[in-house]
Amino acid sequence: KNASNRDAHVAKRAILETQALAEVIDLDHGDPTMYEQYWQQMGDKTTVVIPGWKFISYFSDVNNLCWFLEPEFANAIIRLHKLVGNAVTEDRYIVVGTGSTHLFQAVLYAVSPTNASEPINVVSAAPFYSSYPLITDFLKSGLYKWGGDAREFKKNKPYIELVTSPNNPDGLSREPVVNQNHGILIHDLAYYWPQYTSISSSPADHDIMLFTVSKSTGHAGTRLGWAIVKNQEIAKKMTEYIVLSTIGVSKESQLRAAKILQVLADTHEHRNNFKENEAFFDHSYNLMARRWKQLRDAVEKSKLFSLPEFIHGKCAFSGRTFASQPAFAWLKCEGETEDCESFLRHHKILTRSGKHFGESPQYVRISILPRDEIFDQFTDRLSGINFS
Ligand code: PMP
Repeated sequence: KNASNRDAHVAKRAILETQALAEVIDLDHGDPTMYEQYWQQMGDKTTVVIPGWKFISYFSDVNNLCWFLEPEFANAIIRLHKLVGNAVTEDRYIVVGTGSTHLFQAVLYAVSPTNASEPINVVSAAPFYSSYPLITDFLKSGLYKWGGDAREFKKNKPYIELVTSPNNPDGLSREPVVNQNHGILIHDLAYYWPQYTSISSSPADHDIMLFTVSKSTGHAGTRLGWAIVKNQEIAKKMTEYIVLSTIGVSKESQLRAAKILQVLADTHEHRNNFKENEAFFDHSYNLMARRWKQLRDAVEKSKLFSLPEFIHGKCAFSGRTFASQPAFAWLKCEGETEDCESFLRHHKILTRSGKHFGESPQYVRISILPRDEIFDQFTDRLSGINFS
């Protein structure tokens, strides 16, 4: 008995030592480095060379309402939406921003009433993207203020509702939840791409839709997003916000992004030129499918956690029928563990607590988009976590 106690003790010490030596795995941010390998395999096909004399002017297209939008980038955006079928672009205004983060602020400015006696409430159903409350309130605007969980919003007053679909953090498809008719809706469709979820047979056609290269192609560092807007006055005011805050958006970024979006579309529409490369959304779909399988296996093994289940849908873009495989895992610590973030931090896995998303700390959000080796280390470590 003593010997087996000693063995158990030695084994436990070995585990603790391994844990102490183990590297920290940071999955707190949704940094999309997973996409690096695909673009690396493209070699020079997406390389953009810009001579020093080019693109000196502030202006891109003086005939466009959004005069700092590069026509090449605008065309590439339209081509991509036509290819995927995820959003209507005909008779719509496109406004470019430094990431959709910039556009989110531009929209708040553009849609808030200017003559109201108090700031308009900005709400979103919990769990909501953790940056929304921070961005809404950090400058203490007199125009708008964070109003919290949209499901709890019962005031009979004007409001702005953010509808994120698929949602960050839990990956579910969403509809507006406030049941009043004087609301302004903003649809954040950052993840409405066929590697994450099935694309519906009718393209999204909301008043204000936000997209970003960060989560579509993975080029978060390019810092580019675009808004598709129905109403001319709103598009004008958003443009005004961007002019006042940054006098436009980097042309170098837009040209690089234009090239990447064109090549992406070419991988689907001109397969013959890409014998060595898979089409972008096939590659990224397969990668996400493998990662979700690997994650679900690890969760199954450990028995301490649970994940959301998603219903199957037929994707009008790929023809595949599949359940969503979101960019984040919304993981719940089952049993006694009340603070899932610190529990995982103890195992050197950094995640973001549910409390930042207006939810219980029994949940954490975990990025599914790191490089391969980090994701493998993560699932390995997760599957080994048990009650000991
Ligand atoms: N909206 C949602 C729902 C997001 O998850 C993110 C990125 N985490 C953004 C907007 C911001 O993206 P960008 O990099 O374009 O600023």
